[in-house]
Amino acid sequence: MNVKVYNDDKKDYTEKFQGKQVTVPGLGFIEMGYAKAKSLLSTWTPPIVDGAGRHSSPKKLRIEFNMEERLAQLQQPGIVCMACNEVFNNAVDYDVHVKAVHADHIIDKNVIKGKANGRNHNNKR
Ligand SMILES: [Zn+2]
Repeated sequence: MNVKVYNDDKKDYTEKFQGKQVTVPGLGFIEMGYAKAKSLLSTWTPPIVDGAGRHSSPKKLRIEFNMEERLAQLQQPGIVCMACNEVFNNAVDYDVHVKAVHADHIIDKNVIKGKANGRNHNNKR
């Protein structure tokens, strides 16, 4: 699913990301896949400091979900991955996904599960 990546700074934000130049306009947004957006936000970029020692290119990006799309997805039958909102038809597909994508986030997954108010990964609707 696509999400919006917002730039909360007045200046355009540009970064070389996955071999391509990505620019998020100042106080604007671009759309991209959730996994890509998450990895864009998690990449560390060296701060550019101007002559006065101020950071001239702060990275003030945040992800916003398209709520309609997200709700529609949550209403689909199947297993929803709480970590990234992908939907899977069966537990085997979900398991493969978790191992491939979230293998290094297993602890996070348990935290998310604990906060999910009974609506956990294994709920089939
Ligand atoms: Zn996932």
